[in-house]
Amino acid sequence: MTTGSIYDTFIVGAGISGLAAAIKLKQTGYLNFRIIEKASRVGGTWRENTYPGCGCDVPSSLYSYSFAPSSRWSRLFARQPEILDYLETVSDDFDITPLIEFDCELEQAVWDKDRHLWCLDTSSGRYLAKTVVFATGPITEPQTPPIPGLETFKGRMFHSARWDHDYDLAGKRIAVIGTGASAIQFIPKIQPKARELHVFQRTAPWVLPKPDLPLGETAQWAIERFPVIQQGWRRAVAGSLNVINFGLRNPQVLRPVNEAAKQILRLQISDPALRRAVTPNFLLGCKRILFANDYYPALQSGNTSLIPSGLVAVDGDTVIAANGERREVDVIIWGTGFDVSHPPIGSRVFNDRGQRLADLWKDSSPEAYLGATIENVPNAFLILGPNVLVYDSFISLAEAQLDYIIDGLWKIKRRAISKLTIRSEVLRKHNRKVQKHLQTTVFNAGGCRSYYLDQNGRNFAAWPWSLKALKRRLSVFELKDYDINFRKAGADRPPRQSSRSRTHRPEEVYS
Ligand SMILES: Cc1cc2nc3c(=O)[nH]c(=O)nc-3n(C[C@H](O)[C@H](O)[C@H](O)COP(=O)(O)OP(=O)(O)OC[C@H]3O[C@@H](n4cnc5c(N)ncnc54)[C@H](O)[C@@H]3O)c2cc1C
Repeated sequence: MTTGSIYDTFIVGAGISGLAAAIKLKQTGYLNFRIIEKASRVGGTWRENTYPGCGCDVPSSLYSYSFAPSSRWSRLFARQPEILDYLETVSDDFDITPLIEFDCELEQAVWDKDRHLWCLDTSSGRYLAKTVVFATGPITEPQTPPIPGLETFKGRMFHSARWDHDYDLAGKRIAVIGTGASAIQFIPKIQPKARELHVFQRTAPWVLPKPDLPLGETAQWAIERFPVIQQGWRRAVAGSLNVINFGLRNPQVLRPVNEAAKQILRLQISDPALRRAVTPNFLLGCKRILFANDYYPALQSGNTSLIPSGLVAVDGDTVIAANGERREVDVIIWGTGFDVSHPPIGSRVFNDRGQRLADLWKDSSPEAYLGATIENVPNAFLILGPNVLVYDSFISLAEAQLDYIIDGLWKIKRRAISKLTIRSEVLRKHNRKVQKHLQTTVFNAGGCRSYYLDQNGRNFAAWPWSLKALKRRLSVFELKDYDINFRKAGADRPPRQSSRSRTHRPEEVYS
């Protein structure tokens, strides 16, 4: 059944990206859009990840929308409940919540090539839209490795992103698999409860001290009373992340920082064997830099043992590491992160040739132009797509991309464009340049195998230049980069179509 009218735009997902898309569209007077969310509340990542200690590792002044600063953060680095509360408040304050259709899941998105419309099959029926914005998230699908013998394990198992709050960890023998961003946050919280805590570490991450502090009533009052403090705080954080980004692009600059990080490790860990085991064998920044003050103390507690090796097998209640170490445990907690190179939305979207994106991406990772538009996928925009990752707040990145996407949506509307697809040669040229410049960054040259690299070693995640350069590229939606069809005669033509760009017979306006 098709429901209602044809929307100008359909937004899928109400996490930080979908909410920002809806707010920014509304602010520009673009009102004929619909937003759906498969869950029953907003928040995305911050609704799904509820593990103990979950929080952001970018200061809250920057991990918040530029158009909705908050003075109510209780710490310099907010924790998950507060971030979720912030997103719900913003959604209410900007009157977006009533526009969201909750418990509505996009099941399939198919481009109707005759009518130049997206047919969007959802759990509440079919919708039609001229354009679609996929704000479905880059870090959503929990990843658990296929471990031989896992089916013989009779204890409890769960992933950090699906924390089992009904299971009491007190007095239990716990195996934590992985030492990534989530694990280093929850390990210190569960360690005091555990009878035994066994941490399986395949690769030691760089963990630096976190400059976190509580913000009392007085600080919150001052931030509210004097917005200049908030602005200064945001600018200072953005400035320091910019410096870090410079280092990530120029790894030689990081070598002294690397040495300093080793000295800090020396101060934090007295046992030489443990220190050796947790000292990374790659350059700082090759994998995401982690920040924590309580992780190393937790590792040095009497009930904790670090196994400097990955999990390779399970035999009943025994978990076995690649180095042969064995532990009997009651529960396995997967801190193994997410499948980021295969975004789940790919299994739901078909291109204009009827091919499912997940099938095209199965032997590699997605490619897009400026992280937003995909080859043969007309009138569709991805937020936080491939190769836009800069060491900064994902909120800033999503906002920057939205400047581009909203400019594009308005151009489509104003110029009565019925179909707009990224030109293959533009996409290829851009991505060749991106890949070339990534070669010398720490992500590619820092001596690690990070989640920025897909199964073929191609870096599908990072942007090789500065955030400023990314914002500049995203400030204008250039129609000349796209193949374009128009809806009706007499509509404005886009500026300077190249000879290779197709021109088509005008068509009827649909609605
Ligand atoms: C534990 C954790 C900590 C993080 N910490 C930081 C940090 O400190 N700093 C930082 O910058 N970034 C951090 N990130 C990255 C984080 O993913 C992004 O900051 C951000 O949440 C992405 O927002 P999003 O709206 O694009 O995606 P999401 O938050 O994933 O939201 C996507 C939404 O789309 C909905 N959806 C998906 N598929 C469908 C469908 N088919 N139909 C309908 N709805 C659908 C989902 O239910 C969800 O609500 C962290 C991520 C995790 C997992």
